[in-house]
Amino acid sequence: MLVVATPCAACKILRRKCAETCILAPYFPPVEPLKFIMAHRVFGASNIIKFLQLYVISQAHLRQKELPESRRADAVSSMVYEANARIRDPVYGSAGAIFQLQNQVKELQAQLAKAQAEVVNIQCQHAALFCNETSNSHQPSFQFITGSDEIFEGNNPTFDIDQESLWDTIWS
Ligand SMILES: [Zn+2]
Repeated sequence: MLVVATPCAACKILRRKCAETCILAPYFPPVEPLKFIMAHRVFGASNIIKFLQLYVISQAHLRQKELPESRRADAVSSMVYEANARIRDPVYGSAGAIFQLQNQVKELQAQLAKAQAEVVNIQCQHAALFCNETSNSHQPSFQFITGSDEIFEGNNPTFDIDQESLWDTIWS
């Protein structure tokens, strides 16, 4: 067993010699001792090692398989996250945080629905205003046409008067 000069955070806290083959060393570097302290407090060092080595692939037959190295960093992150959540909320742990976030999502969805309803309402008001404006803008042009008709009709008497004066000139 080749002992390394700088032990990993786990071996330092457990006061044991850190070997080159230490399974915890890649995930608990000496610069982040808090990660191991938290996980150790909640799960215990032997369980952390067990989780990193094996995982249950069948609950019914309790068959275990070695955890692939590529997934060990994620396993450590999950353990550290769960340990922190468990220390903050000893009863519900991360489930409490999930519940809280789900409530927040529901609340925000309700706010979003309310805002969307307000947008639809404002769009309806705008549409109604636009309709009124369009019908109002039609009315003056209609009145203008009526006005110009009146002017045209007003010209007719002048024409009639001219005709009358023409007849007067003929008969006189
Ligand atoms: Zn170590």
